[in-house]
Amino acid sequence: MALRFFNTYSREIEEFEPRDPTARSIRMYTCGPTVYSRAHIGNFRAYIFEDLLQRHLELRGYKVHRVMNITDVEDKTIRGAREAGIPLQKFTEQFKDAFFEDAHMLRIKRADDYPAATDQRYIARMIEMISALISKGLAYQADDKSVYFRINKFPDYGKLAHFDLTQLQSTGRVKHDEYDKEHIGDFALWKAWDEADGDVKWDSPWGPGRPGWHIECSAMSMALLGDQIDIHCGGVDNIFPHHEAEIAQSEGVTGKKFVRYWLHCAHLLVDGQKMAKSLGNFYTVPDVLAKSYTGRELRYALLRVHYRVPLNFTWEGMNEARESLARIDDWLARLRQIAKSGNVQRSTANAQRPTTAFEDALDDDLNISAALGFLFESIRETNRAMDQNKMDAAPASEWLDWWKRINTVLDLEAEADVVVPHEVAQLAEERENARREKNWKRSDELRDRISALGWEVRDTKDGPKLTRGAGSA
Ligand code: AMP
Ligand code: ZN
Repeated sequence: MALRFFNTYSREIEEFEPRDPTARSIRMYTCGPTVYSRAHIGNFRAYIFEDLLQRHLELRGYKVHRVMNITDVEDKTIRGAREAGIPLQKFTEQFKDAFFEDAHMLRIKRADDYPAATDQRYIARMIEMISALISKGLAYQADDKSVYFRINKFPDYGKLAHFDLTQLQSTGRVKHDEYDKEHIGDFALWKAWDEADGDVKWDSPWGPGRPGWHIECSAMSMALLGDQIDIHCGGVDNIFPHHEAEIAQSEGVTGKKFVRYWLHCAHLLVDGQKMAKSLGNFYTVPDVLAKSYTGRELRYALLRVHYRVPLNFTWEGMNEARESLARIDDWLARLRQIAKSGNVQRSTANAQRPTTAFEDALDDDLNISAALGFLFESIRETNRAMDQNKMDAAPASEWLDWWKRINTVLDLEAEADVVVPHEVAQLAEERENARREKNWKRSDELRDRISALGWEVRDTKDGPKLTRGAGSA
């Protein structure tokens, strides 16, 4: 079956045809975290969906070049740094680190690039794009010195979100908030500096200021992936205005179609409401780990429902994830035992063999619910065969090979779950240094700190080894 995705732009399921079908390489841009606080698990639902998408494309033989931006300058990061009384860079750094730590716990594959909006390279690119938009009449500087995109001059504006913008149409100037814009829907490309921004500012042809959020993504995407890309993803809340604005900016500059396929994931909910920082109804990855769940269990809980279906987060759901993984673990253990035994005596004439149903389901707009349904049905049937002594080494090995293949997409195997947290690894490294300096007192202190975090360090001939201590999550 050909790969098919629901494209937000057309609101239809479309057969996937990459820009360059012969190269089998795909350019994919995914909107990343705004680093003003620790990302919550709702954000990670979006990143896990993107991870699943990338892994499935790779299973199908594509080489994926994925970019995920880090939004480290916009209103919330500036406000946060000001309130904390520290420089912007220092303020955002801690949340960047936390993001990478959490993504690692959830086994999310690293993107090829993580461009930061404050990188001078990209700021220069943003300024270049804004200048081009002004020279084409698609942008203007208003009396407040900020530069805005002129949506009336871009007829396709609203096509992604399927919004009828005529309701917003206006001719004269409209006063909106503190801005003096021509049209209420015009969005900021460059925000003129004001006192609240402190020392966060860059020089530009329009005076000191900072980029708007939308132009950051257009510029970083263009700088790293070129004028035209295959896939662009995010959560549904990114559709408008963020992605709509990205199209207007990028296509406004290049005159070429920016993105072939727009994929958006539905929200993670709590009690039927979107999990959001602003609503205070959120959990972070450490919140979930503190309740003795593992990163693997959370990955499963966030992965198991089709990406376009809203998913309600509950602790009961976490327990179900734990049970489902235990079933997989037990099944693999049984298969391994039979495969190892090399037994070829049993009657296996009717033994069920793996099929392509799992990956075929993923071809169908990444239907993970159906794919997992097939996995558990296979587990049920092969377990029955094993109960009845009707499975010998050959089919058991086939099922293990099959698992290995689908696990490149799922990444849910137990062993790899023993991921040493960054903090523990750092303490272990400090302890190793202390031992090298024969500072035994410090080495013991560090061992105690490692142990207080639920880990045990053993000194072996191959160096120190970390294992989960008693009572750890
Ligand atoms: P932000 O840091 O707010 O820009 O969000 C980062 C990503 O997480 C974006 O792709 C959002 O669409 C996505 N997102 C935010 N909240 C949720 C949620 N409750 N469920 C799923 N995705 C979300
Ligand atoms: Zn973005």
